[in-house]
Amino acid sequence: MLNIVLFGPPGAGKGTQSEKLIEKYNLVHLSTGDIFRANIKQNTELGILAKSYMDKGQLVPDEVTIRMLESEVNKNPSSKGFIFDGFPRTQAQAEALDILLKSKSTSITMMLALEVEETELKKRLLLRGKESGRADDQNPEVIQKRIDVYNNETFPVKDYFTAQGKYKGVNGIGEISEIFNSLCQKIDSGK
Ligand code: AMP
Repeated sequence: MLNIVLFGPPGAGKGTQSEKLIEKYNLVHLSTGDIFRANIKQNTELGILAKSYMDKGQLVPDEVTIRMLESEVNKNPSSKGFIFDGFPRTQAQAEALDILLKSKSTSITMMLALEVEETELKKRLLLRGKESGRADDQNPEVIQKRIDVYNNETFPVKDYFTAQGKYKGVNGIGEISEIFNSLCQKIDSGK
């Protein structure tokens, strides 16, 4: 299996690149943010809970997020692999993911990181807020909170995968197709 963690701060382009990667490599795209948003739309119990954190730019608690991710992985038993987009965001999530994949006799192949600096992220998020109507992309304070949460809680997950020799960084600024090509090169040379 080809199991990729697509890593990077909010606004780095993870969703855009995931869409292209799943098509080329025939993978299942699991975006925890998208799954939470679908639950919010359907007004499920999980959606109501997640919204209370997302509106403030905070992380949804690990226990809830991990359980949801596990159930999504289990829904795709015959997949050739997964792109994990927006997960893991904490050390506990990274450890849970390793345990889950090990129980299925597989593992994370690599962590691909889109590297984009903060001023560019803020510009992109505000633009996305205008275009998509996503509430958490429209409020500069919530955007700042999400970037702070990324720096404090999520960025250290890089060390977890670096220690396993699985971290690969890519410049996330430039044309979408150029960035896609850089990601594909990393995948093709590291499979
Ligand atoms: P995203 O679509 O990845 O930018 O995520 C939007 C929001 O969903 C985040 O700001 C969090 O509140 C929540 N979220 C998404 N993925 C996770 C995760 N792995 N752990 C905790 N919260 C998450």
